[in-house]
Amino acid sequence: MTETIFSKIINREMDADIVYEDDDCLAFRDINPQAPVHILLIPKKPIERLATADSADADLLGHMMLKAGDIARDQGCGDAFRLVTNSGEGAGQSVFHLHFHILGGRALGWPPG
Ligand code: 5GP
Repeated sequence: MTETIFSKIINREMDADIVYEDDDCLAFRDINPQAPVHILLIPKKPIERLATADSADADLLGHMMLKAGDIARDQGCGDAFRLVTNSGEGAGQSVFHLHFHILGGRALGWPPG
């Protein structure tokens, strides 16, 4: 996988407002927030998008789902937040390192665009 903005954030070659980190994942504020809380949660493992993850990633992905809930609560969202991943250009993915958007802090409409 080629280097991305997010791998540079993992390697501390680029600054980010980091709100959570452990051995497997990193969470930081989106530079262009779409809600009062807009955090990006990424694996440290270079996975391009959800569609390219495989069964070897099951524990990592499960860990990240649970951490997403913890992070949303820590950021004051309570139990009301949205977790989104754009997998592939056609779905709006612009950075090709798997990431989950954690959105909250306001009422969220449905369906998304
Ligand atoms: P995607 O469109 O791939 O689902 O989401 C990429 C997200 O990365 C966008 O919401 C965009 O605002 C965010 N983003 C792009 N470049 C940077 C950056 O340099 N720093 C941070 N913190 N977020 C970024």
